Amino acid sequence: VLSCIPGRTNLCSNHSVTTPIDLPPDIRSSLDSLDLEGYISFNDVHNASKDFGNRYQLPPLAILHPRSVSDISTMVRHIVHLGSTSNLTVAARGHGHSLQGQSLAHQGVVINMESLRSPDIKIHKGKQPYADVSGGESWINILRETLKYGLSPKSWTDYLHLTVGGTLSNAGISGQAFKYGPQINNVYQLEIITGKGEVMTCSEKQNSELFYSVLGGLGQFGIITRARIALGPAPHMEVEKLLSELSYIPSTLFSSEVPYIEFLDRVHIAEIKLRAKGLWEVPHPWLNLLIPKSSIFEFATEVFNNILTSNNNGPILIYPVNQSKWNKHTSLITPAEDIFYLVAFLPSAVPNPNSRTSNLEYLLRQNQRVLNFCSAANINVKQYLPHYETQREWRSHFGNRWETFAKRKHTYDPLAILAPGHRIFQKAT
Ligand code: FAD
Repeated sequence: VLSCIPGRTNLCSNHSVTTPIDLPPDIRSSLDSLDLEGYISFNDVHNASKDFGNRYQLPPLAILHPRSVSDISTMVRHIVHLGSTSNLTVAARGHGHSLQGQSLAHQGVVINMESLRSPDIKIHKGKQPYADVSGGESWINILRETLKYGLSPKSWTDYLHLTVGGTLSNAGISGQAFKYGPQINNVYQLEIITGKGEVMTCSEKQNSELFYSVLGGLGQFGIITRARIALGPAPHMEVEKLLSELSYIPSTLFSSEVPYIEFLDRVHIAEIKLRAKGLWEVPHPWLNLLIPKSSIFEFATEVFNNILTSNNNGPILIYPVNQSKWNKHTSLITPAEDIFYLVAFLPSAVPNPNSRTSNLEYLLRQNQRVLNFCSAANINVKQYLPHYETQREWRSHFGNRWETFAKRKHTYDPLAILAPGHRIFQKAT
């Protein structure tokens, strides 16, 4: 039962499909008979049918728990071999912290990247230190390991219980991005399994087109199985020195001294509290926008004064960044100006027993009003962690880079089997 048809409206509060698509039984048994070091499971699919956004429920047919890179390649090659005789698609799943079903593969195969345990995190010291990590590794584990050497990745997300493959498929933005660029700018090398099942190593110098396609590429071109992450010295407390360079009213200064790891892992502390109250696994109608500097005043005036009128909007983060520190070759789409702002609206839709309209619908309408305003005012915003319902909207998101994006898709994933949850390309059947 399709309770809400994707493509018709983006104000639907939930998208769920509860009846499975009919698949020829031989497809299921062909998956079952693959020679794998890990295993494939058909029973725990509910674990991979939802994401953090908690609005889409699209169960896969099967989950692959790979033990090796070759397991993933075998699966992709098998699906390529089946070709248009099956509807099967493949989604790599980090921790499923996507918001609108991006890590789901309805009646396809979800790859549980966390079970790809190799390589172990390996730290290389020296002039240009780096860490070699698996694509399913969590950033918190990388931090814990690198700190043993006095090192740490240069660029972060606010929340560290995300995976390397998941954030590198988007960008990975936090308070360091103005200085070092996002996480996708702090990677030296990747190992990728393309949509043809080939295992390829790529970097700025080797297979560079694949390298830049995958970074910020929304999982469309390949599955990241290994990444070489740039490291730098883990900072010491330097708060007084930094403050001495700022001009501010001393009485407005609030400070709290915490160890470096606690500062970086701060959202997890909030997660533990929210989970205890049952407020973590609720719908999250988040909206992340990149706003050019020339329009930020107009945006802020309208949005903060006239659209966000309730005091129930959740945290709002604002990060100004300097594009000259960002690499232009990746697949990430940003506004054309040198300085732009990430403005992140991060509400939780908590059930409201006193209202007939659900909080979720209210928040979704509010997001739509923000987007409508930007469109009417000709503000050239770009969505971060983008979500669109139609290919026309995706073309508009990519602008003059659409042709390149589509051409690269054809090169690396010609059957369009990878990352179907973004609904950018449709597998030909
Ligand atoms: P998933 O949601 O599992 O996957 C995301 C996409 O990447 C999917 O399309 C999936 O198919 C693809 N993918 C996953 N693994 C791989 C792989 N190995 N190879 C290729 N494709 C892959 N983002 C920021 O930039 N900054 C933040 O500060 C930030 N804070 C967040 C805080 C919270 C509480 C949450 C829930 C999210 C936050 N995010 C932030 C968003 C986060 O970057 C995305 O959710 C991202 O998708 C990572 O989540 P994940 O690792 O669980 O990936």
